[in-house]
Amino acid sequence: RAKDQGRNTYRLYTEDMTRKALDRLEIETLLREALANGELYLEYQPLVSVHSNAIFGAEALMRWKNPLRGVIRPDEFIPVAEESGMITRIGDFALLEACRSMKRLLDEGLPLRTIAVNISPRQFLLQDVVASVKKSLAETGLRPEYLELEITESALMHDPDQSLQTLLALRDLGIRLAIDDFGTGYSSLAHLKRFPLHKLKIDRSFIRDIPHDLDSEKIATTIVAMARGLELKVLAEGVETEDQRKFLEEHNCDFFQGYLCSPAVSAETLAELVKKQRR
Ligand code: C2E
Ligand code: MG
Ligand code: MG
Ligand code: MG
Repeated sequence: RAKDQGRNTYRLYTEDMTRKALDRLEIETLLREALANGELYLEYQPLVSVHSNAIFGAEALMRWKNPLRGVIRPDEFIPVAEESGMITRIGDFALLEACRSMKRLLDEGLPLRTIAVNISPRQFLLQDVVASVKKSLAETGLRPEYLELEITESALMHDPDQSLQTLLALRDLGIRLAIDDFGTGYSSLAHLKRFPLHKLKIDRSFIRDIPHDLDSEKIATTIVAMARGLELKVLAEGVETEDQRKFLEEHNCDFFQGYLCSPAVSAETLAELVKKQRR
């Protein structure tokens, strides 16, 4: 029996592995066509002031709708894009498209000051991200101070000296830099202090259980205090309830994003949200 069970377990395991491998390969194959077929596009999640509830910007988030597979989540296809090297072209597309949308919204007279774009580790480490940013700004006419790049701790800490050079070159372009998903990786405080950063984004996993979980509260308030010490702005990701927002207000967090305000939406809907609050 044990033997049978072992064999069954083995078979299930391999079937599962095969399914996963096919999925990954299928994603890779479909992704190769996706950009050319216009299946990739951006949505924009409002970035909000904790104190005034005013929308001051947005984070561009990639979306993929495939006619056969339906909606595919970024958590599924961004890693595939990374491993296969396709992130270079996809990342350039996101940068350009985000800058273009922001320029259009500003030309409409909307009082926005930040468009945030995610940069994957491979984009940051291997690709000439400085050249990509320059090109997107030049092509769209967006002023650099409106653009913020989001980079994870692991990408920055992989080779801190090289990262510092890249960050300095980006800072010299006049754009801003944020650390994404802060608290989930390993950061050297000495390096953090040297990097020309503008903002820390507290990962959603530390916000989710506030105010029920004391550990989460402590981590969130510690990150806010750390940001203050480093003279950085701080934003909380994934804020879903008014209780969470109140907690962040009491603890002097600057900004939030999350379903409490809005999920990621089209540029048109973002414009409506901003106009609505102006009235
Ligand atoms: P991220 O950069 O940390 O983005 C925040 C994620 O949290 C987004 O997931 C957003 O939809 C989600 N979120 C925001 N507020 C809430 C909330 O209140 N509740 C919950 N449950 N979720 C919330 P999304 O859009 O699925 O993106 C996942 C990740 O994929 C992003 O995490 C980012 O790492 C990556 N990604 C997305 N677009 C791009 C892109 O254009 N380039 C690169 N390199 N990565 C991207
Ligand atoms: Mg992000
Ligand atoms: Mg994040
Ligand atoms: Mg996150």
